[in-house]
Amino acid sequence: MEGQVQEKIKFTGCIISVQPRSNVWRYRLDNRTHSMTGYNLFMVGRAAGEERQFSVAISEKQQGKLRFHIGDEVSGTAWTKKYAKWEYADYYRAGSLKKLASSLLVDENKVPPWIGEVPELAVYDWRGCRMLDTRSYKGKCFTCKWACMANVTIEYNWGVSQKFRFESFCYGPKNCKLYKMGKPRAVPYKGESPSYDEGWLDDICTERRGDDD
Ligand code: SF4
Repeated sequence: MEGQVQEKIKFTGCIISVQPRSNVWRYRLDNRTHSMTGYNLFMVGRAAGEERQFSVAISEKQQGKLRFHIGDEVSGTAWTKKYAKWEYADYYRAGSLKKLASSLLVDENKVPPWIGEVPELAVYDWRGCRMLDTRSYKGKCFTCKWACMANVTIEYNWGVSQKFRFESFCYGPKNCKLYKMGKPRAVPYKGESPSYDEGWLDDICTERRGDDD
């Protein structure tokens, strides 16, 4: 696949959501592997000279140091994507990150969406996730620290070709009243009818926790 030429850009913005960033690998229905790779900061502000909403991928180390949360004013640099289909965030390889103004730390609220500070990636790994309806992700769940739009690679023809897409997931409590799975997700494989991920992989991914964890 031919990549795009990358450019370094500057940004400043106000954070509207902090979510985990993950890569997911799918193979037919047998395998759905989630790897946490950092966090995505969603912001409203100025990036590459334009006023708009945008997102920047940052590392766990950067998040650990600056502890970004909703309402913070942030500046930094980042790079445009080489492969747009592989990365949900608009920009990645963030650098020179600064918190220009800090919003008041939000105590964990009593009702969803959960907008307290994001935990370490090991917590997400331990919890595992369920498929989350895309409309819920874009709507009421968007500010939640348990929401995630993953970069998904589908092994389409083993060792020969792959397909790429983005999928929304929820790492939150199983009894969250805002949760909706959405439609089963087709997992294509060359020369075969697609299999459908109807939710039982979610049960396996989250088997360590009970309904209210
Ligand atoms: S469904 Fe999941 S992502 Fe949405 S508010 Fe509840 S815990 Fe958060």
